[in-house]
Formats: sequence, structure tokens, C-alpha cells
Amino acid sequence: MDALTCIKKLGYVGVLDFATVDEDGAPQVRNISAIHYEGTDIYFLTARGKYFASQLKRDGRVQILGYTRYKETIRVSGRAVEVPEEEQLRWRNVLYQEQPYLENVYPGETKNIDTMFVIRDYTIEYFCLSTRPITREYFAVGNAQLKPKGYVIGKDCIGCGTCQAVCPQGVVSEGTPYGIDANHCLQCGSCAENCPAEAIRRL
Ligand code: SF4
Ligand code: SF4
Repeated sequence: MDALTCIKKLGYVGVLDFATVDEDGAPQVRNISAIHYEGTDIYFLTARGKYFASQLKRDGRVQILGYTRYKETIRVSGRAVEVPEEEQLRWRNVLYQEQPYLENVYPGETKNIDTMFVIRDYTIEYFCLSTRPITREYFAVGNAQLKPKGYVIGKDCIGCGTCQAVCPQGVVSEGTPYGIDANHCLQCGSCAENCPAEAIRRL
């Protein structure tokens, strides 16, 4: 898997969930289909008067979620910026050509209320439940930085093997200390909950 393949998969999914936070810090999520992919750049459209647009302008943080028919979850976390005025028309035309239904929503000159945003710097979390063990991968696109996630086993490990026994995916290996294969970990926490030495830490 790689970042561009994840983005192509999102394109096949079509309609994606876009989450933002409002002025009270509450989550706000909506379905968005007016999306154009330019390489790994994600362009999308909304209207300037929508709460979605004002949340993006105020905060910019956005999380996108798509789920494929192959039980793959693809999560994009990044920052959206409004496309500069001089480029707005170009990208809006591209999107309207790709998705003619938009003309039905904003016919003729009424589409002038639209505004385009783009996400260039983001991280991707790929999570696939159709493999055994499950697959989990992370990618950084543009200037985004990955934050470590998951569980690690520290030097307090006494080698009892309990974590290995309770792991639903069999991704704990013996050693000093024992180890977790992060690319196949569910992040369920069972190992940490059952460790008698409290040697397992969530990042
Ligand atoms: S349960 Fe804790 S102490 Fe036992 S092997 Fe796993 S990490 Fe080490
Ligand atoms: S978090 Fe769950 S899946 Fe991951 S190693 Fe621990 S028990 Fe296994």
C-alpha cells in the first residue's frame, strides 16, 4: 500500500465523510461527493455560506473517512486551505466537468457562491480487516508529520507470555522484551490490560 493508492481508493468510494470541529469544539460530520483528486492533492467544493466553509476557514483541521468494499478503512487527517482567488474558477470547472450533477445543484451563475478548498498536507491511516492478521499502515503526505500510535512493550517485561496468549491477532512475538508487530495490531489494548508487569504502554 502507498499514499497514492489510498487516495485512488477513496476516489472509487466516491462519497466520503468529512469531519470538522465547530466553534464549541463539537464534532461536525457530513458527506461530501464534490471532490477532485489531483495526484495526492484533494480538492473539494462547498458554498461560502455553509457552516462547513466557516469551520474550515476558522480552524482548517479536517478528517476524511472512507470505507471500501474490501473492508478497508482509509482515514485522512489534515488541514484544508481555501484555494487562492485566481485559481478558484479553474478547479471549480474541473470539478463540474467531472461531476455534472453539480450543475443541477448550482445552475448557471448561482455557482458563484461555491468555493474550493484543497488539502495538501495530511496523514493517512490505512486499516484493512480482510487480511489475517489485520493490516495497518500510516503515510505522511506533503509537510505532514506522523504521530506514533499503538502499543509498545518496555523493559519492565518479565517474559510471562500473557500478552501473546490474549492477543486476538497473534502479533506479539517472544523476546527480551516481547514485541508487538505494529503493522498488524488492532490496538485493542488486551495485551496492556492483562500484562502483570504493566510493561505495555499506549503511545
Ligand atoms: S504480558 Fe507483560 S510481562 Fe508478560 S510477556 Fe507480555 S509484556 Fe512481558
Ligand atoms: S493491542 Fe490487541 S492486537 Fe495489538 S498486540 Fe495488543 S492484544 Fe494484540
